[in-house]
Amino acid sequence: MNLPSQFVQRVTSQLGAEVDALFDALHEPPPVSLRIHTGKFEGSLPLDSVPWANDGYYLNHRPVFTLDPLFHAGCYYVQEASSMFLEQAVRQVGATEQPLKVLDLCAAPGGKTTHLMSLLHRESLLVSNEVIRSRAWILVENVIKKSGTNTIVTNNDPIDFGVLGATFDLMVVDAPCSGEGLFRKNRDSINEWSPENLNLCSQRQRRILTDALPSLKVEGYLIYSTCTFNPEENEEVVRWLITEHGYELVDLEFDEAWGFTEVNIMGSAACQAFPHRVRGEGFFLAVLRKMQPSKAVPQVKLVEKKRRPKKRSRARCGSCEPEIAKPVQHSFEKVTRRKSKEFEPWLNMEGEWLQFVARGDRAYAFTKSHVEQLLLLEERLKIITVGLPVGEWKKHGFVAAHGLVLSELFNEEVFPSQNLTVKDALRYLRREPIETSLPDGVGVVAYEGHRLGWVKQIGSRSNNWYPSEWRIRMPLPEVEPWSILREE
Ligand code: SAM
Repeated sequence: MNLPSQFVQRVTSQLGAEVDALFDALHEPPPVSLRIHTGKFEGSLPLDSVPWANDGYYLNHRPVFTLDPLFHAGCYYVQEASSMFLEQAVRQVGATEQPLKVLDLCAAPGGKTTHLMSLLHRESLLVSNEVIRSRAWILVENVIKKSGTNTIVTNNDPIDFGVLGATFDLMVVDAPCSGEGLFRKNRDSINEWSPENLNLCSQRQRRILTDALPSLKVEGYLIYSTCTFNPEENEEVVRWLITEHGYELVDLEFDEAWGFTEVNIMGSAACQAFPHRVRGEGFFLAVLRKMQPSKAVPQVKLVEKKRRPKKRSRARCGSCEPEIAKPVQHSFEKVTRRKSKEFEPWLNMEGEWLQFVARGDRAYAFTKSHVEQLLLLEERLKIITVGLPVGEWKKHGFVAAHGLVLSELFNEEVFPSQNLTVKDALRYLRREPIETSLPDGVGVVAYEGHRLGWVKQIGSRSNNWYPSEWRIRMPLPEVEPWSILREE
């Protein structure tokens, strides 16, 4: 590995004699880790746990995750271990115990968002945003696979949040950065590294924060993180938040044995993971508390979206992926009981905490207590998907969404289902034709009891309804591939 000389100089002055241990670690293969989505996958694994994340595990090798049907069923998310440290911050600010409004501002591909979906109080609202359109679709895929009813995925610039004014109790800004902490995982980040780029990153981080922070309430918490060791993007940004914006740095308590380093900034500590001290990649995290209103709320002239009448939309993609179509110019509205009668039995809904909402022809199940907030947010934000996609009204009736079958709320008693062999499961996930013994009509296919998606059986033919954009594109192996089910 050829490290840039200016990088070598800087980390040497940062770490002193210890720097050789860092360089040695950078030549080691990166640890492989994942986070189980409990509810979808029960039981613990016979693997080393990530000590700072309840559902995190280390694998002993890097398997081909794409060839594990459970990966596609949303049973787990492959995530770098150090970044799971977010869990410590979320727990310590009390966000697991009370319903909060949370914004994950730089969210794609969705590691922190899916972690937040697991951690936050069930009645919380999570707005998960990604500014880059193509990356926002990857975020949607991961959010739908994780499955929940209280998440809104948006595709907005940070300033669009700033103009909302004080809205969120907690904001996570996992900022785009120079990526020093990922040098051994992503060799491109070495080639892209330069002092100029680093400076641009630090300016961009400040701009993102300045634009979005007016939407954090006073006394609300900001979790700021990066995957770099560089003080300009870490300590200096935190110092700037304290001195220029009146934020208070909050000390986190954690076990010293985990290897995270306390970075003292004006008397309080942020946390840094170095790969030679922690079993994970480079990562930085600080928790700050907003102590005074933002100085300037961005004044962007908003073009108010007109709430259009209920017109049936024609802008859609294939019948099998209703929930991942391009957002249409419709407004969300509550679905009446009369209209939802048809699909209500498809969900196990205990109590009255869910509300069906629709945009155009698509219906979603959403946490009832946040429906009014959703209607307000959609006036200002580009919402791509909300809550749990349930299905779509089509010419011939209501067609269930892929997201529904992946949900823990799915009522398994309504549709017939069949477990597939691993070979057929992978062929299904490649969107190839498969044979089933399901009766005619819409049915569910699963692997070892974990639902993969829908098929429509017509006589001896089984139409594969797996979303084409998510299909496996790689060839299938001759031998049985790795699965988390067989991890030992
Ligand atoms: N939080 C994500 C996760 O855990 O999977 C990783 C986020 S990544 C470190 C930073 C994200 O910020 C990227 O998805 C990138 O597209 C986005 N980004 C890039 N420029 C941005 C900008 N100017 N404003 C907001 N987000 C930006």
